[in-house]
Amino acid sequence: MNEPVATSRQVSRIARIRQSVVGWIYPPLCAACETPLSSSRQIEVPFLCEPCEAALTPIGDHYCRVCGQGFDGTSSLPFRCSNCGDRELAIDFAVSAFRGAGAGKGLVHQFKYGKERHLARLFGVLLDEVWRDVRLSETPSWWVVPVPLHRRRHRERGFNQSHELARELVRRAPEGINLTLHQLLRRTRERERQARLDRKERLVNLSEVFAPVRRLPDAPPGGARILLIDDVITTGTTVSECAAVLRQSMEIDRIAAVSVLRG
Ligand SMILES: [Zn+2]
Ligand SMILES: [Zn+2]
Repeated sequence: MNEPVATSRQVSRIARIRQSVVGWIYPPLCAACETPLSSSRQIEVPFLCEPCEAALTPIGDHYCRVCGQGFDGTSSLPFRCSNCGDRELAIDFAVSAFRGAGAGKGLVHQFKYGKERHLARLFGVLLDEVWRDVRLSETPSWWVVPVPLHRRRHRERGFNQSHELARELVRRAPEGINLTLHQLLRRTRERERQARLDRKERLVNLSEVFAPVRRLPDAPPGGARILLIDDVITTGTTVSECAAVLRQSMEIDRIAAVSVLRG
């Protein structure tokens, strides 16, 4: 038996043990339709059955090179969409895994508002999609920075969903890409739930919400390469605000944003 086979068996043994422990606490059911999942499915794509996975709509290859909004069509030529064309965003670009409509929205809702923290493992797998963008995958190292949650909201929910996603992203880093988790931002003010606000109010409401943490690490030579992570990117304003604060606070080489969903 050669070495790589032994290694992969070892990994799957660890995955099986982990699964049996997690499965004891959270039975392996599809989070969307409650169909029981086979143990191999649960290891591959946790908490989501194949039909429900097929109901998610990937962003695909035809998306805005700035805000990441997906469009129907087949051309993969770079373009900037009219939704963000008239706006100054402080991020260089955003990439999302799936479109916000449909099954994905319900899953993210369960994760955040249903406090189903274990679903972070599912979103970690779904986030693999974002590496299709060569601007992400051809950069050898990134600092992964979660969008912070206000202390009070954090206490209510028990976790920051973006931080959970950041951990999964780092854990599943593609080979050859060095990802490290950095908490660089804090949220200084709470705000109204965005769903209640229209777009204009949302832009005003988000200003001065973020600040750098008190002890920022030194950026590496040439500036930090930052990957902001959020569960959903809607207008791009939240990640842009975060990016603007970071650009004021440290030397930056580039800032991209990734999310599970593009709302
Ligand atoms: Zn299902
Ligand atoms: Zn756009």
